[in-house]
Amino acid sequence: VLPQKSIEEVSKDVEKWAIQKREEIASLQRNEKFRKEFLLNLAHELKTPVFAIQGYIHTLLDGALEDPEVNKTFLRNATKNIDRLCRLIDDLDEISRLESGENQLDPEVFVIQDLVRDVFDTLSLKAKNRGVRFSIKKGCEAPPLPVYADKEKIRQVLINLLDNSIKYGKHEGHTMASFYNTDGQRILVELSDNGIGIPEEHLPRVFERFYRTDKARSREAGGTGLGLAIVKHIIEAHGQTINVRSKPDIGSTFGFTLKVGRE
Ligand code: ADP
Repeated sequence: VLPQKSIEEVSKDVEKWAIQKREEIASLQRNEKFRKEFLLNLAHELKTPVFAIQGYIHTLLDGALEDPEVNKTFLRNATKNIDRLCRLIDDLDEISRLESGENQLDPEVFVIQDLVRDVFDTLSLKAKNRGVRFSIKKGCEAPPLPVYADKEKIRQVLINLLDNSIKYGKHEGHTMASFYNTDGQRILVELSDNGIGIPEEHLPRVFERFYRTDKARSREAGGTGLGLAIVKHIIEAHGQTINVRSKPDIGSTFGFTLKVGRE
């Protein structure tokens, strides 16, 4: 004889099933909403530089070509917009590879202070031009802290965060890196700037794709609005966390964790 379920048990199962279905539908709707928002944002991001390039070329063809000064300025402006499109394509490529999980991590043991110094060097010219100074906090230079992570991906994280600290830094600003061995398992890396800061109401959303607190400033500085979304993806793919503290006009601190590396 098959075991029988009571009416109460069957109705409990049905209710459980209904709740599960409702959650599945809500999740699908959320994904659909994200997808639509993403496409809308993307179309907008593409339109701005493409229309600008179109405008410069049309004006040149309509006669401005005769004037060598105008010529140069327009071509320079068109190139600036093409560079922006290229950055956007690179970031989109990166984010879609991260999201599809196609981009496997390739972890190794390396010293985090060495990588940070390397990225300081890479960005030194840009920082110098904006009067921003990079340093490692006193007492954090040694001992060397080995971490276990995908070095090239973490380089990308550091580039995006330090580049932001230049873009949103004050002239004669300062960005400082500090490192803490939290629980013997993880290293906390913090990058603090004394730049324009982020108003509190924007903080929970800055890691979203295309979210910016000041669109005009971001665009002017050459931002794509995808830098922090890429950073968050990379850190989470490592099973680690990232957060931000910030105060307008005082500055921002981005902190992320990495697994301690053991030889
Ligand atoms: P963007 O390409 O616009 O810089 P990001 O994803 O890197 O895009 O950053 C999203 C937004 O977060 C920026 O547009 C800016 O408003 C804010 N932001 C990021 N980093 C900083 C920072 N260090 N100081 C102030 N604001 C920042």
